[in-house]
Amino acid sequence: MLLPRGCAGCDRPDDVLCDDCRALFRHVLARPVPGTATGCGYGCAVYEGAARRAMLSWKDHGDEECDAPFAGLLADLACRSGAARPGERVALVPAPSSRMSMERRGRWHMRALTSRMCHLLSARDVDAICLPVLRSARLSSKSVETTNAAQRAERIRNGIVVADAVACRRRELIVIDDIMTTGATLRQCVAELNGADGTVRAALTLGHVPERAADRPSQ
Ligand SMILES: [Zn+2]
Repeated sequence: MLLPRGCAGCDRPDDVLCDDCRALFRHVLARPVPGTATGCGYGCAVYEGAARRAMLSWKDHGDEECDAPFAGLLADLACRSGAARPGERVALVPAPSSRMSMERRGRWHMRALTSRMCHLLSARDVDAICLPVLRSARLSSKSVETTNAAQRAERIRNGIVVADAVACRRRELIVIDDIMTTGATLRQCVAELNGADGTVRAALTLGHVPERAADRPSQ
């Protein structure tokens, strides 16, 4: 028997994400992301209010039932922004999680979401595959000792590495992440994928932190 639940955004009974909260995610917000073909990082929602609560419930409180509505909303964004088009082949690249956050959540949440997006886009005649090639390269103190200085400097500079550069070569790519705050993580993802000879069309995220908030030093 399923336990009753409330909307992840507003706690309205018997809904994973109610229609009103879903509507908050139907924007096509755009912020600059250099290194992409469109020049843009597109977002579904402003990261505030009920949209923010729904995302936190999903991301930090294990509400995995939100995978389905969020994947649907991101697939809509992919089509409405023009990043994904019917008849075209595109690889969706989930942003990496650190080992620590994967252990805390018990999964790579962006990979789960991106896989679902691919199924939904395939149903719309977009030839989409999930390409989970990015890794968080935040090093533990132990691995620092076993890495040479040049490698260490490179990894610390970027924080993100491509685990399979061959898989990216000459491919059309879209980076998928949950929240765009300053855009630094997305820029790193894009730079690494370009370095692996991929063409990044755009980045897509569920939420955009309002820019004034994103620019605060405390963020
Ligand atoms: Zn709601």
